[in-house]
Amino acid sequence: MGIPVLIMGFSGSGKSTSMRNFGKNEIALVNVNSKPLPFRTHFTNTINSDNYADITAFIKRQTTKIIVIDDSQYLMLNEFMRRSQEKGYQKYTDIGKNFWELIRLTEHLPPDVVVYFFQHVETGEDGRLKAKTVGKLLDNQINVEGMFTIVLKTLVVDGKYLFATQTDGTDTCKSPYGMFDSMQIPNDLKSVDNVIRSYYGFTEGEKCTQCGNEILPTKQKTIQEIVDGSTKTYGKKMCWACVMQEFKRRKEAENSAVEGVSGSTCQEST
Ligand SMILES: [Zn+2]
Repeated sequence: MGIPVLIMGFSGSGKSTSMRNFGKNEIALVNVNSKPLPFRTHFTNTINSDNYADITAFIKRQTTKIIVIDDSQYLMLNEFMRRSQEKGYQKYTDIGKNFWELIRLTEHLPPDVVVYFFQHVETGEDGRLKAKTVGKLLDNQINVEGMFTIVLKTLVVDGKYLFATQTDGTDTCKSPYGMFDSMQIPNDLKSVDNVIRSYYGFTEGEKCTQCGNEILPTKQKTIQEIVDGSTKTYGKKMCWACVMQEFKRRKEAENSAVEGVSGSTCQEST
């Protein structure tokens, strides 16, 4: 059973950009609206389609463990537009069922496959920001977030692009307890994917050589940045908490060394 993950956010808030650190063979991309990507990498395994049968066949034949559907909301919207002349509720039932089946497809994939659904957002009836669908009649058929255990939301704070990992009460974000230890992390899908894989035991995560804990992203830094930074500065892979401790320890040692020097100078002058 694979894992479906919902990444939701406004247009231009960093959903597609979050794929930037994947190598060209690392993911399979379903490009629903044949949209150009906001970075240089051209992913080798790409399908430009909003046809469920084609997408399902594409996903089933992938050997890569990471699949991205960008932007899955257009699957619903495009079908809705194509059937705009139809009266009655049947189309909502069909649109809901088709989308539901695509999410359910994940259950039939190998257990270490993660499928990321990128989705736009809208304000729901309860005032919270939720995954965008094609309206209330569709929402009566299917609760999109209800089908996901992991729902992240893009955020732009002070010009920085982030993912929220837990709800702040105004949205439908969620993630399992202990998966992320920060409410906000950089919008790096590769870093997110590493965390999910090590949480479920698919891979060994990056471990801190100081305390043995897993290295998790912080609000400011991805796993890779923490690993690179601590290796460069301290010569070993360390988690952010240990980096901060080490930084403080060295700072204090430096300060007491300075005090020692000025102290001795003082003694000499008297
Ligand atoms: Zn540590």
